[in-house]
Amino acid sequence: MEKEHPMSLCAWCNAALPPRLPGRAGGGHPRWYCRHACRQAAYRERRDRTARLQVELGTVDFAPRRPPTDQQIALTILEARSAAAAFARLGHAVRRDLAWRCSAAGQAVRKAVDDYFPGT
Ligand SMILES: [Zn+2]
Repeated sequence: MEKEHPMSLCAWCNAALPPRLPGRAGGGHPRWYCRHACRQAAYRERRDRTARLQVELGTVDFAPRRPPTDQQIALTILEARSAAAAFARLGHAVRRDLAWRCSAAGQAVRKAVDDYFPGT
């Protein structure tokens, strides 16, 4: 029996990921999305949520020459919470030997963000 890819579900729609095409460089990064539309949808959601959070936090930067570190922090917090949520979702969706890893990773990421950025 062939080994399954450890992350064999699309991170956006949870569909099974198609097998890698032979001939493409084997050392590429692992796939997260089943198709271009899913990658786009995930990107748009991250972008829109980040924009909303920046408005809520009042960190929209109107002086682009200043390094936008506050926005970078807000964005990274959002990405971490998004990754934690994705792990938690996968914890209910994937087979058991991977599910507990996903659940534990999601809890650990969420706890780290809660510990170091309380109230975000
Ligand atoms: Zn998909």
